Amino acid sequence: MEKRETIEFMNRIKSHYQEFIVDDFKIKEWHKELSKFDLEDVNQKLDEHLKSSEYGEYIPKLFFLTKYLIPSKDKGKIKKYIAKCQLCNCDIPDSEYDEHYRRCSSASTIVRDMKLYFNLTVDYQQLMLMNPIEFEKTYQRYLNKMLESDKLDMFRRKIIMRCLYPNQSTETLADMLKGISK
Ligand SMILES: [Zn+2]
Repeated sequence: MEKRETIEFMNRIKSHYQEFIVDDFKIKEWHKELSKFDLEDVNQKLDEHLKSSEYGEYIPKLFFLTKYLIPSKDKGKIKKYIAKCQLCNCDIPDSEYDEHYRRCSSASTIVRDMKLYFNLTVDYQQLMLMNPIEFEKTYQRYLNKMLESDKLDMFRRKIIMRCLYPNQSTETLADMLKGISK
């Protein structure tokens, strides 16, 4: 896309997120990346972002707005097989689908549960950006945090304990659960 389109696009973000800053430096930086793609495609990504109940309240990150998009110059040349993620509704290339789906489903679960059980908002995009080690640590923290909630039913408590202590026997886990629920 052309520079004026980048500016138009950034202004579009600003109209939804007042905290989003548009200045010359940022336009230059964003244009470096956005110039590779068609305005139409990026606009569609932004629409998806705005509609999302999970991350729509956060300012979209450039990385997400262009992720999985086919650059203008490659259009028609490479044929990517695209599948729609049933969770976030994004178009994902076949080759990356499994990896995306795994992370997307864990991340959405964290976002949903933190809201439901603790009324905390978690940034879905941040979770998607983490490297695997970082995410694994965060996921463990999430599991531990879930056990603090007294709203959590026994069924989910059992599943979480199983995830946290995969090598413990069922009996040991049952004993630990008794300890937790008093
Ligand atoms: Zn997804």
